[in-house]
Amino acid sequence: MGPPGAGKGTQAKVLADRLGIPAVSTGDIFRANVKEETALGLEAKRYMDAGNYVPDEVTNAMVRDRLSEADAGEGFLLDGYPRTLPQVGTLDDILAEHGHQLDAVVALTADPEVLVDRMLRRAKVDGRSDDSEEVIRHRQEVYTAETKPLLRVYDQRGLLVEVDGVGEIEEVSERVLAALKTLEG
Ligand code: ADP
Repeated sequence: MGPPGAGKGTQAKVLADRLGIPAVSTGDIFRANVKEETALGLEAKRYMDAGNYVPDEVTNAMVRDRLSEADAGEGFLLDGYPRTLPQVGTLDDILAEHGHQLDAVVALTADPEVLVDRMLRRAKVDGRSDDSEEVIRHRQEVYTAETKPLLRVYDQRGLLVEVDGVGEIEEVSERVLAALKTLEG
């Protein structure tokens, strides 16, 4: 977990690779659907372009399908999900149905202003359609209002691992892996 621009997607890929499990990124799945112009993509695009969350029913159904696929049987790393309290409840249900449980919730922390700068630079390179300054700022607000409260929920469950997300990619990955070890022990 972590605010937009904190490097979730980047770290999710590195860590999933190191752990030998698939990274399931709701943002990536939505973007793939937008690109393919599927019904899901057309619906999601309206929300994404405005920097709003895709409705829970849509997101939850998509995650439920994805986590039922064979490659998720031995574990997975979620990137960008859950982001709302109803999504937390649905994830709990999905995990229970599969006889799984969460091992850890990793939160990447960073100063919002650093993140806005980072995202504006990224926008110039790969030009995501939700990367205008106005939308970026709105996404930070949505994160604070809708998703930040989830950190407390997972902290109360003893699952939260907070990691400084500012630094080189490898440095941050090492921090996450080290932090996960402390949780195991
Ligand atoms: P970022 O974290 O940088 O905003 P993501 O790639 O994780 O980027 O998400 C991009 C967009 O996809 C979000 O702004 C939102 O519209 C949609 N999205 C991704 N995950 C979710 C989710 N769990 N619930 C609702 N919408 C989501």
